[in-house]
Amino acid sequence: MRTPYYRYDLGLLDRTLAKIRECTEGHPNWHVHYAIKANANPTLLERIRKAGLGIDCVSGGEISKALENGFPATSIVFAGVGKADWEIDLALEKGIACFNVESQAELEVIIERCQALGRTAHIALRVNPNVDAHTHAGITTGLSENKFGIEIPMLEPIIRRAIECDCLVFEGLHFHIGSQILDMEPFMTLADRVNELQDNLEGKGIKLHSINVGGGLGVDYDNPEQNDMPCLESYFKVFEDRLKLRPGQQLHFELGRAVVAQCGRLITRVLYVKQGTVKKFAIVDAGFTELIRPAFYGAHHKIVNLSSDGPLEKYDVVGPICESSDTFEKDALLPEIRRGDLIAILTAGAYGETMASCYNCRPLPKSCFD
Ligand SMILES: *Cc1c(COP(=O)(O)O)cnc(C)c1O
Repeated sequence: MRTPYYRYDLGLLDRTLAKIRECTEGHPNWHVHYAIKANANPTLLERIRKAGLGIDCVSGGEISKALENGFPATSIVFAGVGKADWEIDLALEKGIACFNVESQAELEVIIERCQALGRTAHIALRVNPNVDAHTHAGITTGLSENKFGIEIPMLEPIIRRAIECDCLVFEGLHFHIGSQILDMEPFMTLADRVNELQDNLEGKGIKLHSINVGGGLGVDYDNPEQNDMPCLESYFKVFEDRLKLRPGQQLHFELGRAVVAQCGRLITRVLYVKQGTVKKFAIVDAGFTELIRPAFYGAHHKIVNLSSDGPLEKYDVVGPICESSDTFEKDALLPEIRRGDLIAILTAGAYGETMASCYNCRPLPKSCFD
């Protein structure tokens, strides 16, 4: 196949899904939704669906994609700070499980669309719990300064509005504090915050049918070959141990990156090795059009040379796009690189293929599976 392309290890995906099942199967009231924005490749979606996960969407296009790939509408939850009217209508017409509503203004539009279409919406309110996820600023979402969710002091009147409205079914609260979280402490803080909030709301006569703690569990980008499984046990155990669920209460999770990141790699070929006065560049045929995370967030992906076991040398591994940010790694130590070598950029299964673009009129990357 012509490079660059994505290569997915379905065996690893299956092992990850089996681990999720193992961690959750003792809890019939737990529901795991896969955040489809991490990767919407149909072959992966089929495995994920067969493993019994639902879907977390952040757009109308994702709702359509989930339905096309066989996920039942009743397994779909829908978040996002900027839901357009047509997206709300689509979700209402298809009968999704729950809207995760991010503002009073959005709630009013959902009410209006329910009335116009003669539909009922199940809704949860997305709370901004002001928990610092200690992750990259571009992917933290649970702080008051972030655009996501409703701040706790503003919550109660919006809940009352939802409860009193005939066309709404108030399900409960939704949280999502950020992404690529490796330390369990932010999740512990989140669980504590949920407990406090629940106690407080119960004191005011407000009952929650469900709680959604979102996603955000990280993976090991530095040593993926030694550590290809996210810390799913520790993650689920935080909520099992800490969260004080009430009898009959449902608990939802929305994992994206942790499900698919390690099973995907971007395969690219070396076009040129260019010796400068201070640097040696390995110019590969993939760029930020195929994998934007290094250019966008300064993210690190481990790079391996599949074609060489020669002596280690230092290279800046760069793409062909006409932007200096099109760099995968600076001063990467790699076995001697020659033109034509195949290079793998690891841990690229999440936010890789789905963020690909056609900038410079480049074709979108293809994928293969093993
Ligand atoms: C992106 C997103 C997720 C998944 O995040 P990961 O870090 O990939 O687990 C979950 N919930 C919501 C609302 C999201 O926007």
